[in-house]
Formats: sequence, C-alpha cells, structure tokens
Amino acid sequence: MKTFEDSLERIPSDWKPFLIKYKTLKICIKKIVQELNVKGLLQIMADKNQRIEYSLECYKPECTFEDGPVHVRTCIKVCPSCYGQTSKECLYVKKYDSSSSSPLNLPKDDNMALTPLADYETHHMEKSLSHVSRIEPEADGVFFVTLLKEIYQLNCLQEQNQDKFLTNLQEIQQMLIEVTSPFKKDIYTWRNIFQIYMEYKIFVGNTESDREERSWEFAQSQLTCFIDRINNSRLIKKLNHPLSKIAYENFVKLNISLVLMKKFQYFNQLTTTKLIKKHDKKTSLVSGSMFRDLIEKYFLTKNTFKSLCCAMEQLTTIIPQIDDYNCPICLNIAWKPIRLCCSHVFCVRCLVKSVRKGMRNCPICRAKDAVYNADQKNLDICLMNFLDLYFPIEVHKKQKDDDRERVAEEMEALTGLRIEERQSCVLL
Ligand SMILES: [Zn+2]
Ligand SMILES: [Zn+2]
Ligand SMILES: [Zn+2]
Ligand SMILES: [Zn+2]
Repeated sequence: MKTFEDSLERIPSDWKPFLIKYKTLKICIKKIVQELNVKGLLQIMADKNQRIEYSLECYKPECTFEDGPVHVRTCIKVCPSCYGQTSKECLYVKKYDSSSSSPLNLPKDDNMALTPLADYETHHMEKSLSHVSRIEPEADGVFFVTLLKEIYQLNCLQEQNQDKFLTNLQEIQQMLIEVTSPFKKDIYTWRNIFQIYMEYKIFVGNTESDREERSWEFAQSQLTCFIDRINNSRLIKKLNHPLSKIAYENFVKLNISLVLMKKFQYFNQLTTTKLIKKHDKKTSLVSGSMFRDLIEKYFLTKNTFKSLCCAMEQLTTIIPQIDDYNCPICLNIAWKPIRLCCSHVFCVRCLVKSVRKGMRNCPICRAKDAVYNADQKNLDICLMNFLDLYFPIEVHKKQKDDDRERVAEEMEALTGLRIEERQSCVLL
C-alpha cells in the first residue's frame, strides 16, 4: 500500500510530454517584444496619448478546433499616421495628403482618403479607430498558436484519460455490485469502508450546503488519510469474497488516478496563466480576457472534471447506507416502515406512540390526518423486504428493542391497573 502513497507524488511518465512548455513559450514572448520593438510599436504603446486596439481571435467562425487551433491570429490596430513616426506629432493634425505614403508602406485602407480630417484629440479618443493600420505581429501569432496547440493536445490527453477513467469506474462498479450483494458476507465491511470514505469528502462535498469541488492538494491529503485509516482498521482483512480485495485495490487506484488528473490539470492551468500574464506584461498587449474567452469556447474541461469527481462519489451509493432509512422520530432504522399518505416513512412504534399522544398530522410536513388515517395498508412491504435484505443486523436490533419496550409498557400498564384496582378497593 505504501507504493500507492508514493505514486500520488508522481505524474505518469507518458503524460509528461503533454506538460505546457513554459521555457519554449517564454522564448516566444521575447521574440514578440523584439518584433514590436523593430516595428516601432513598443514606442507607440508607451505613449499615453496613443491608442491601439489589440485583438486575439479565431478567424474561422465555424471552427471547432477539431484539427487543433490553427486559425488563431492576433492583430494590432493603430493610427496609420502615428505609426512609424519618430516625432510625437500626428499627421492627422495636418492636412491629410493622399499622395504621401507611410514610411513603412502600410497597407492602405480604402476609406482612409474619404474620411474628413479630425483633430489630434478627437482622432485618438474615438471609440474605435476609424482609420487604422492592421498589423499582425508574426511572433505574437506564433506564441498563441503554439500555446493553444499545446492546450489542445493536453485536452486530447485528458479526454483519453477520462475515457479510461470511466471504463475503469464501470468495471469497479460491476465488481462492487457482485461483492456487496446482500447474499454475500462482505456487505457490512464494504458499507463500513464507504462510510469512512465519505467522511473524507475527498473530491466533492457530499452535504446539501457543500457540493464544492476540492483542490488536488486537499484531495491528495484526504485520500492518503483515508487509505491509512483503512489500512489501520483491519477492514480489508475482514473481506471474504475473493473479488473484494481486488475491487478495493482498483477502487484506490481509481481514486489516485483522479487525483493525478486533477494535479496535472492544475499545473498546466497554472503554467498557462503565468504565461499569459507574462505575455501581457512584457508586450503590453492585453490578451487575458480574450484568451480566457477562447479557452472557454473551445475547451470545457472544468465541468467534465467535476462530473468525474461526482461519479467517483456516486460509486459508494451502490451500497445503501442506513442514514437514508432512519425513522425521523427515533433516528433508528424505520422498522417496520409505515409510509403515510404524504409518503413520509416512520417506524411503526413511533407512530403508535404518536397516536396515543393524540397526534393526527404528519410530524414532518403537517399533512392533515396523515397519522390518524394510517392503518395496516400503510405498511410498506417492499421497503420492509429491502431493509431486511440490506440491514439485517439493524433490523434485528430494532426488533429486539421494540419488543423490550413493548414488554415494559405492558408491565407498566398491568401494574398501573393493579394499583388502581387496589385504590378502588380501598375506596369501596
Ligand atoms: Zn480556427
Ligand atoms: Zn494619429
Ligand atoms: Zn421511530
Ligand atoms: Zn409527511
């Protein structure tokens, strides 16, 4: 079992080529800065009076990234007059001369000559740049295509891993159905294991107020605690069915694989965030929100991850837990189960006592006369058979408790009657 703990630390070696390549992409960022510098764009961006528009987009709207993100480009829009000027003076304050070509031979906008002249102030404060030069910085495009390709490949790996995970999960589920059958001996041991498992809330919260997905660090430490506790509990030794031990080992392996997937995902997301921050800071081209939009549009890993975590937790519900079958009054198993017309279930003893106290309505939902009108037809025989099958120990104990209580009541009634008789005798 110690090897399991160790393997939590280790990312499988066949995943490693899929790690986002931080160093390569950092070099890409350097090249962007160089290009912007050579093209004179860094100086323009440094000038607070200048306004540029920067965009990152997929230029094929119908693109789904099925062949990888190859249609991504970035574009800088800048005032064509300012662009390439060494002086801070904008040509727009002078009369626009259509015969003068810009020093860097920028592609000319056809509308440019038709636009009336604007003064420096309004020209640069307009909501959108009306006369623009579009510049597609090559290195910037390379950076995003490279990064998105890596994320894309990573996504493919994650999808494969998820498929494997779900296949393994189904296999384990089949095994568990077999070994936790009420006709086999292991059901109580398994129920115990899963009760402990659920206490640790390893991947998601399992209460109504807490359904949060956990961080990989939390999941890892909780899983380690769970494994330790099971190992110290001798529960595994109690398992009889030959498949039970294999099922448990596979169950643990599946948990570990989910932690590793989360961990791998986390580190790659962290690297990506770092790279984008670095890009935006070094180049002054703010891509953050556009990049996030692009990722959100094409990669939906976050939600599927939560569904895997939930599937993992769901596995434990193969074995019915006693908490779901308790009588809400005495908090013991609802034996024999009486289902009121409002469909709330109580043990027969609690209802008998409630009727004696004059209760008429359902104590849970106040359904009118639900208790008062209940009779033997309200005994839920299906549920009774189910409880008998899955909770034989609890049912047996409850029956004994009920018997003892009833005997005590009868004795009290009997002695009470005698006292009354004696008293009446005295009176006579
Ligand atoms: Zn595309
Ligand atoms: Zn200008
Ligand atoms: Zn009860
Ligand atoms: Zn009710």
